[in-house]
Amino acid sequence: MRRLSNPPPHVYSGCTFDRAARWRCDVDHLAAARHAPTTRVLLLSSLRVPVIAADPPCVHWLTVAELGQPLPEEAVYLGEVGGTSLFALAQAELAPAEACFVELRGVGALLPAEEAGVLAYARGLAFWHERHRFCGACGGPTVSRPAGHVRACPVLGSTHFPRSDPAVIVLVTHDHPVHGERCLLGRSARFVAGMYSTLAGFVEPGESLEDTVRRELYEEAGVAVTDVVYQSSQPWPFPASLMIGFRARALDDRLVIDPEELDDAGWYTRAELLDPAQRRIKLPSRDSIARHLIESWLLEAAAPVELPVMPPAVAAVR
Ligand SMILES: [Zn+2]
Repeated sequence: MRRLSNPPPHVYSGCTFDRAARWRCDVDHLAAARHAPTTRVLLLSSLRVPVIAADPPCVHWLTVAELGQPLPEEAVYLGEVGGTSLFALAQAELAPAEACFVELRGVGALLPAEEAGVLAYARGLAFWHERHRFCGACGGPTVSRPAGHVRACPVLGSTHFPRSDPAVIVLVTHDHPVHGERCLLGRSARFVAGMYSTLAGFVEPGESLEDTVRRELYEEAGVAVTDVVYQSSQPWPFPASLMIGFRARALDDRLVIDPEELDDAGWYTRAELLDPAQRRIKLPSRDSIARHLIESWLLEAAAPVELPVMPPAVAAVR
């Protein structure tokens, strides 16, 4: 059987609800939405999200009445779904009785795609507000505009918008005359024990994505690559990235690992990764584009294969 655990649109993306940018500057619409009985509010606490522990888990939304107070001005307007306005309110102190606050990475792959996407969007905006309370030009405090998608500097009159940091993530292959086709996986010190993944790095100013792919692979592993081809992308609000997935082909399999970037890296055949008896490493978690890039390559084997069943790399919902 052929299957992928995280096909495009990846977890945290493919969110089709209406972001309703047309209402973000409409103070009358926003004021009405803040009081509407149909409005739903998402509380966040230290960037953690409210989830009801069920099988499968689901997101906990409050009505304004259940909030027990008027919706504060700093609540961020997320958009509309089926005539319902959605807001997110960060810095909640207490979880509602039926729910608990959890790290989004712990439940993302278990949630319906729409819900995981809305939570990623809300978490990304909450992080941006948290880290842009002061103007980068004059150092004075910034204020959030009514919908929460712009922060303004009252001194300079400048405006600041939410940002995502682009990063490339690359599955590199090499066709060895003896070992056959192998892929390059590495691990950094910050990974969980035993986990190896595709190599990744942030785009620097003045670089194209293809330039970043070539530079990162050479810097981290001493690998020169060609045939750089885009695959798919994934929002990664942990805290503020957009992961842009590529495939590339190595010109040779010699590795020169930068110990500042990687603890280890190596070439792996499909047989090594597919056979639990041969597999010496853990693959990245099911919610990541890295996992998708690896699984896609594994499924290119000539014969149909069964992907390895691995325990979900997610924490239980408490
Ligand atoms: Zn300023």
